[in-house]
Amino acid sequence: MSKIAPGKSIAELTTLLQSKQVSASEITQAYFEQINQFEKDINAFITPMADQAMAQARQIDADIAAGKTTGPLAGVPVAVKDNICVQGVKTSCGSKILGDFSSQYEATAIQNLRAAGAVIVGKTNLDEFAMGSSTEHSAFKRTKNPFDLDCVPGGSSGGSAAAVAAGFAVTALGSDTGGSIRQPAAFCGVVGMKPTYGMVSRFGLVAFASSLDQIGPFARNVEDCAMTLAAVSGHDPKDSTSLPNPYRDNNPKNYPQLTFDFVRNLVKESPEEHLKGLRIGVIKELVGEGIEPDVRDSILEAAKLLTRLGATVDEISLPHSKYALPVYYILATAEASANLSRFDGVRYGLRDKEAADILSMYQNTRHEGFGSEVKRRIMLGTYALSSGYYDAYYKKAQQVRRLITQDFTGVFANYDLVLSPTAPSCAFKIGEKTDDPLQMYLGDIATIPANLAGLPGISLPSGLGTAKMPVGLQLLGSPVSDSLVVKAAYALEKALNLDLRPPYLKEPACKN
Ligand code: GLN
Repeated sequence: MSKIAPGKSIAELTTLLQSKQVSASEITQAYFEQINQFEKDINAFITPMADQAMAQARQIDADIAAGKTTGPLAGVPVAVKDNICVQGVKTSCGSKILGDFSSQYEATAIQNLRAAGAVIVGKTNLDEFAMGSSTEHSAFKRTKNPFDLDCVPGGSSGGSAAAVAAGFAVTALGSDTGGSIRQPAAFCGVVGMKPTYGMVSRFGLVAFASSLDQIGPFARNVEDCAMTLAAVSGHDPKDSTSLPNPYRDNNPKNYPQLTFDFVRNLVKESPEEHLKGLRIGVIKELVGEGIEPDVRDSILEAAKLLTRLGATVDEISLPHSKYALPVYYILATAEASANLSRFDGVRYGLRDKEAADILSMYQNTRHEGFGSEVKRRIMLGTYALSSGYYDAYYKKAQQVRRLITQDFTGVFANYDLVLSPTAPSCAFKIGEKTDDPLQMYLGDIATIPANLAGLPGISLPSGLGTAKMPVGLQLLGSPVSDSLVVKAAYALEKALNLDLRPPYLKEPACKN
């Protein structure tokens, strides 16, 4: 029986570790006990990394014993979406086409995590190449929602969200191209954040749509989410779109940089202080038609709470947001069709070795290796980029993307943050939308605008819907205002005072 129960925060684990009440090895062991007991129900991982994690934990224990200073995430178990490269470990992207490809190098975000002392516990399931909203497009397994095993965990980072919700890891990394961190966080009752585009290096993240992709954290609370973001963010010369360091240099409003100290100070102050005087806009288009009533009510309740806590809350409009979905599904597929051309049977994993000539080798490998959603998107993107259609689709979508960004710029001239649901509904049933891709795409309506405009956004639980499934609330800020987004989310989380626990975390095997 382990000395600690899963579900602890980074601060709790750090205190236990630094006061030598538990070792990093014992923490890792406790999380693997939880994984071994419940992973068969949840299917969060493609590659659990027990041996590597234990070796890492032993090293941390040795460092502590030798009196060396350890990082702020020392001994903290972290799960990683399987489209982020961990050196020497299989990277599958949820696809058959990568075969048993193992990463030659480490993503910068992973290097940063290790430097902070985090212990990588495994690579998590995802929709193939991060294309999807339910993790049902994984070539390997169906991840279940820890709150209801008949429901999807959301996607595409469903494995990471479910791992955190089920207590398999304290925090996790995902990638968010159109909502793939925020929406699964909402569905699984955890916190998930998409940082400002460029805040976290994309080096070592397998590209889906490069102008939209961003790595970000999941956690059971805002503080842990922010600590993980502080660990992974920072300028990286290996990613040309990575923001300069410190990024506040570029910022007219001079937001403080989201560092470990920023987070530590944040939790010492009173939540009311964080919200007083903040101007928050509720996106009119996202609390009306098409949003389930239980979700809408939960968001509007939270808006009232924010007013009581001293914020000014008004309804605002983003008139071009109605075009966000078509714009995204043209641009993201166009970029994907270019990015995925590298999977041709020559460079990575799978190859049809029997093919008569090189063209049939490409064709057969891709036919065999890619799933139907990925094929659909490559075809859509190739069509949008083909001569004759480029101006009508790709160029037009870029122009409308600019209009959507300008809507936000206008709003942020008068407001600090905007509020909306993270998704139009709570988690849906497994299989409910697999035959209707458009229905699936419509669920991304609230998350996609932030990717198109490069904004930071966080999803945190705002309550339970009618089916007793978690509802997610989204706060968005202007570019590089990540610290402000975190601050407001932290205060709101405190005021809401929810502790959503799925059955897997209800009765810890042994309380510390
Ligand atoms: N659900 C969206 C899609 O299918 C977003 C995916 C993502 O953010 N990676 O493209």
